[in-house]
Amino acid sequence: MTTAADSPIVPLRAAVAALPAYVPGARPGAGAKLWKLSSNENPYPPLPSVLAAIADAAAEVNRYPDMFATELVEALAAHVGVDADQVVVGNGSVAVLGHVLQAVVEHGDEVVYPWRSFEAYPITVAVAGGTSVTVPVRPDGRLDLPAMAAAVTPRTRVVMVCTPNNPTGPVVHADELEMFLAAVPRDVLVIVDEAYLEFVRDPQAPDGVDLLRRHPNVVLLRTLSKAYGLAGLRVGYAVAEPRVAAGIRAVSTPFGVSHIAQRAALASLEPAAQAELLERVDALVAERARVTAALAEQGWDLPETHANFVWFALGDATVDRAAEAREAGVLVRPFAGDGMRVSIGEREANDAFLAVAARWR
Ligand SMILES: *Cc1c(COP(=O)(O)O)cnc(C)c1O
Repeated sequence: MTTAADSPIVPLRAAVAALPAYVPGARPGAGAKLWKLSSNENPYPPLPSVLAAIADAAAEVNRYPDMFATELVEALAAHVGVDADQVVVGNGSVAVLGHVLQAVVEHGDEVVYPWRSFEAYPITVAVAGGTSVTVPVRPDGRLDLPAMAAAVTPRTRVVMVCTPNNPTGPVVHADELEMFLAAVPRDVLVIVDEAYLEFVRDPQAPDGVDLLRRHPNVVLLRTLSKAYGLAGLRVGYAVAEPRVAAGIRAVSTPFGVSHIAQRAALASLEPAAQAELLERVDALVAERARVTAALAEQGWDLPETHANFVWFALGDATVDRAAEAREAGVLVRPFAGDGMRVSIGEREANDAFLAVAARWR
């Protein structure tokens, strides 16, 4: 008989034991007055109409949510301009990304993505049993789509395109994405992660829905966390052709989007609320222009951002610089040895950061 003392310990999957930790943006501690520019959050508080929807929904939390998020899916489909059977919602687009990969990746299949890019990618790929194949982002912060197409092998099942790229900021252009899609086999899924879509002002940026219409191997990933200011409620979605969407839905966590989140998302998509939220995005984009102009004035040569953050490729100085920013009251997101991402926040927050950045020149 084996006893507790000599029984073997439960082995974790090798891929799980080796997972890199997801490092969330630093949070201000109690009492400290710190500007949080570390997580690409929307600095505006929820609209009164959204808060009211949340309060009303709270009264019903003894019930399960609508498992299929029927109304929300219909509202998102109308918003995007596709059919409802093409939309799959989830507990944040990071969860949706995991579901997309679980729907298509067999053990050991290769998943190609740029690096540095969104830090959830290596984790979700490994959890899905896939093998990460990373392609370096160019020194100007842009994705190297020809190199990504060249990295596709017969083992490749998925390629991920993050546009704008988190954390470097640039978008891919429609013509280069078109060439990329022409080069990638049609049985390879191309995930276009558009988490910052609403902040994009580059006329050369691709129209994801048009791409999906012509390329059924495209999946768009979108979220209400950034432009719509619902990061704390976790609502993301995929847009795909109906067969792929059904596969994603099949592996999704049942009841993955809470009733409160569904109602808040619906309230945010109401025409009046949406107009107000998109005006806030315009204000953040104007603030981004002000910040990037001030940084250029200071002498920085940064990647062209179309998201709600800027990227400083500070290399080995990154961690020290991030500590100095914190000292000055600003939380940023350092990637040790590589660079620092700084979100666009409230005007005073951005001014506090600009003052720090000026000292580094
Ligand atoms: C913030 C972000 C997301 C969105 O995450 P949620 O889970 O929807 O909050 C997805 N992709 C990228 C690249 C992001 O930066």
